Amino acid sequence: MNVNLPSKVVECQNFVNGKWLTPKGEKIEITSPYNGKIIGTFQSTTKSEVDLAIEAAHFAQQSWAATPMKERTKVMFEFRNILLRDLEEITHIKCSESGKCFEEGKAGLMKGIEVLEFAIALQNMDLGGRVEVSRGVSCEYRREALGVVANITPFNFPAMVPMWTIPIALTLGNAYIWKPSEKTPLTSMKIASALKEAGLPDGLFQVLQGAKETVEAIIDNKHVKAVGFVGSTKIARAVYDRGTQLGKRVLALGGAKNHIVLLPDASPDLAGIGISDSFTGCAGQRCMAASVLLAVGDVDSHIKKIVERASSMTLGKDMGAIITNSQKEFLHSAIERAVKAGASILLDGRNAKAPQGMEEGNWLGPTVLDQVKAGSEAAGIELFGPIISIIRCKDISEAMKIENSVDYGNACSVFTQSGALAEKVIRLASTGMVGVNVGVPVPREPFSFGGVNASKYGHGDITGQHSLDFWSNIKKVTMKWEKQNDNNWMS
Ligand code: NAD
Repeated sequence: MNVNLPSKVVECQNFVNGKWLTPKGEKIEITSPYNGKIIGTFQSTTKSEVDLAIEAAHFAQQSWAATPMKERTKVMFEFRNILLRDLEEITHIKCSESGKCFEEGKAGLMKGIEVLEFAIALQNMDLGGRVEVSRGVSCEYRREALGVVANITPFNFPAMVPMWTIPIALTLGNAYIWKPSEKTPLTSMKIASALKEAGLPDGLFQVLQGAKETVEAIIDNKHVKAVGFVGSTKIARAVYDRGTQLGKRVLALGGAKNHIVLLPDASPDLAGIGISDSFTGCAGQRCMAASVLLAVGDVDSHIKKIVERASSMTLGKDMGAIITNSQKEFLHSAIERAVKAGASILLDGRNAKAPQGMEEGNWLGPTVLDQVKAGSEAAGIELFGPIISIIRCKDISEAMKIENSVDYGNACSVFTQSGALAEKVIRLASTGMVGVNVGVPVPREPFSFGGVNASKYGHGDITGQHSLDFWSNIKKVTMKWEKQNDNNWMS
């Protein structure tokens, strides 16, 4: 156990206009996945409180948008210094509420800081451009802020997923409304404090605690121009539909069921580590985790290595806990149902030992299911736990047919030594992100993050270069200052 849980119950609050406020809605308790004990509480934000906070953000945004980007970036640079200074403290908090182990919690925050560094670099990138399009006439692009934007985030990355959007949206001149997951609200208070300390003017970053009703009030508010969402597919679709019906810009990232194609020529060591770490990392609670292993031909020696590495994991040290007790129970029953449907168990995480003193936590060790049938629950539904389902395939064509049959479209990886076979999988994969000998093919900045199909509703990606057009408008300006002798109708 390498995570410090809070020594007393934390009362989570809203952050509005640079001040901490207790909202008036329903009271919700937060339990730590580590030991099932209450570590925090909060009250949900009501519709009238949402509207007041957004009105203030709308007001604050106007002078922020008029502030030169270089000045806005200075705040972001200071924000980075504070996050790095408080890295360990924030990591303990986010791990205590999300169940992550310390090192993976720290890595998530570092990935968030990488996005912040991308946002800091925007000041030095060509964000516009001007061309003389005909004699005496020029056209130019100007990137402008949208106004107030909102983001709704899931429990599994309490700092990294919000950090995908906070730095970029603020640097581009927007005001930002954040509704953190109701399961992990503690981290949001540290992020808000860091932005205040960095010198962000009041009203530009408002944290509103709550769940469904708070989200709906945010989407419906007339000042909110764009809504980013990350969470499960069902809710992503509901948020997308609600926002777009109101004519808003929405980018809603959903769930996943990621496949790994394992070919006989793959390096057993690379595959053993890459595939095991992919399905066990964050206890399988990440949208890029391997979930199905498409085992092509005789790959038993590779599978042995995967099982060996997964068996060596110590709960609480190498692998964290499951977010809630009910989710843990769901995973246990899903394993039972897979066995009834014909799967055999190569490694049973239900027998894994809980860390000492944490027996009341939500634990499930790595679980490897073999002989899973395509189309069954374990093959097609997002389970969101440290479970990998092996489907035996005779060739790549059969494997890719199975991969293509699933609705989701986040990630697919292939393990092979052959460039030609890797290329075949890259071309056939029905996903937004593909890996070659990489178990978790998350693109690093400045490359963008985003899936396709039921893993993403809306256009563009949520980070990197392809997120800029989501968080801003491009104004096209055509100018002429002098009368020309050769005027024609186009100029
Ligand atoms: P979730 O969908 O339950 O919750 C996400 C957010 O939606 C939370 O802030 C929650 O309060 C809010 N919400 C819940 N019900 C709502 C409703 N009816 N209307 C409006 N808002 C509502 O997701 P979760 O359990 O917190 O997170 C896990 C899910 O997120 C998994 O499916 C995972 O794959 C997905 N995820 C996807 C990505 C990605 O990049 N595609 C990244 C991380 C997590």
